[in-house]
Amino acid sequence: MANHDQQSLEHKLALLKQTYQHNLQAELASLCSVLTRLQQTLRAQLMVTTEAPSSGDPQAPRDTLTDVYHRLHKLAGSAGTFGFDTIGSQARLLENGLKRWLEESDQAIDLQLVNVVSSQLQSMQIELVPSLQQAPSVDGPQEINGTSAKIWLIEEDDELGKHIREQLMNFSYDVRLFDSVPEACQAIANQSPDILIVDAMAGVGHLAPLQALPCPLLFISDCDSFDARMRAAQLNAHGYFLKPLNIPQLVNRLEQLLQERQSPPARILVVDDDQQLAAYYQLVLEAAGMEVRILDNPRHIIDQLASFRPELLLMDVHMPDYDGPDLASVVRQYDEWSSLPIVFLSAEMDLGKQVDALSHGADDFLTKPILAAQLVASIRVRVARSRTLSALLNKDSLTGLLKHASIKSAAINEICRGFRQHYSVVVAMVDIDHFKSVNDTYGHATGDVVIASVATLLRQRLRQTDMIGRYGGEEFLVVLPHCSAEDGRKRLEDIRQYFSRLRFNQGEQEFACTLSAGMVCSTDVSEDNKDRLLVLADEALYRAKRGGRNQVSQ
Ligand code: GH3
Ligand code: MG
Ligand code: MG
Repeated sequence: MANHDQQSLEHKLALLKQTYQHNLQAELASLCSVLTRLQQTLRAQLMVTTEAPSSGDPQAPRDTLTDVYHRLHKLAGSAGTFGFDTIGSQARLLENGLKRWLEESDQAIDLQLVNVVSSQLQSMQIELVPSLQQAPSVDGPQEINGTSAKIWLIEEDDELGKHIREQLMNFSYDVRLFDSVPEACQAIANQSPDILIVDAMAGVGHLAPLQALPCPLLFISDCDSFDARMRAAQLNAHGYFLKPLNIPQLVNRLEQLLQERQSPPARILVVDDDQQLAAYYQLVLEAAGMEVRILDNPRHIIDQLASFRPELLLMDVHMPDYDGPDLASVVRQYDEWSSLPIVFLSAEMDLGKQVDALSHGADDFLTKPILAAQLVASIRVRVARSRTLSALLNKDSLTGLLKHASIKSAAINEICRGFRQHYSVVVAMVDIDHFKSVNDTYGHATGDVVIASVATLLRQRLRQTDMIGRYGGEEFLVVLPHCSAEDGRKRLEDIRQYFSRLRFNQGEQEFACTLSAGMVCSTDVSEDNKDRLLVLADEALYRAKRGGRNQVSQ
């Protein structure tokens, strides 16, 4: 073949490859958004089923996934042809996995499955990024993944609105700005955000429609009066934030609300000698979306607590063998269960006896007979309050992650469980590079934004079952159960890369940060040395720092 013919063929192939590359990028983005919508639908269904039977078509999610499977099949066939081998084989793996699942399981599509598919697709998107000839500017959070939460902001002051949007985008939220309530309400008719933030002043006179929103509502305001707060409360606001806004504090609440929307069902242990009544409570609470177990023998209560780990104990007062209050006292003897909410349910009308029961460590007293709705409401409120309290006790306020002591003990427990049950656990220390200079150059508040964004990124990019804690100022401890060294390394590398692409703003200035991580897998040590895993992860982090930072060391 003549030389120029050869060149022209190569040129044409390169052009074809380029076109394919752009189509591939668009296809992956489109698949990601299909999954994001599916995640939202399933989350919404989860919410609906706790209130009333779902009205959605149960077949629809399966059809969507079947369609995703067909598109992956096509993609797996073509990507390798154009030289995108890794993406091709990732698509093939995912396609096969999905096919197996769709063929073998007749269960309803659950959120966890969709989360897995979505995260695989996102990693294919990342895989594509370095190969793009013209690397897109990845300083926007929209690039982060297809699952960014949608936050809508109504702010009359355009300048301020843009500033808040910019700050929130640093946390990889998908933020849309409106300058009036009617404008936002019109948009809500077609699509709903995950959370709506409204400037109290922007909405004066127009706020009423916000009361019936399907999403949580937060107020921002420069007015700290009782009347203004009361107006917000009457509109069912989930928070009231004063200007100038403390963004990490606002982000904290956003994360809390987003997590609540996908929070697991409450687990309730019922103790009642009347089997029929116990079954009735179980039915009512399960219909409200809770997970319920009935204790059939009070002597087994501690074992049942350990295996079921309930979040609330619903207990009869008078039982033939053991009285409820005595049983509550036994439970309270165990440190681990000292703050478990205990609610007594009894036909006891005598106030003195009720008070006596409460003095035995119970938290509440409900009188039989009780209406189903009343029972559900009391239990829901109790569990929600106890979750909030436990979050306050164990979670760091800036990042919402476990505090030092909690993550450390979670790590130790998980490592021990891993050795006992023969699965591998990866432990990693993550530390922001040259963080002192971020504080020195941009101020402590901006430093806080950076810390909180590492936390958000870790939460977004790790699995629900992974444990993440703020170990120190800008240092994080991550525990990945059922994870090999190779997978752990991939996950951390993925997080490192994403973080380095985030852009932070301080006034007009834009800057980026990097992080280093040190990891160790439990398979790297013998069981006798399991106590050394945290130290080894720390030593690996030190090597990453010594090796030039912005890297994962093992
Ligand atoms: P290296 O790359 O070696 O990790 O360098 P570094 O500058 O990050 O070093 P070092 O870990 O010693 O610095 C951590 C700094 O983090 C020191 C401390 O002032 C700051 N810091 C700790 N907690 C917080 C916090 O909650 N908010 C902010 N903004 N800064 C914090
Ligand atoms: Mg550091
Ligand atoms: Mg440090």
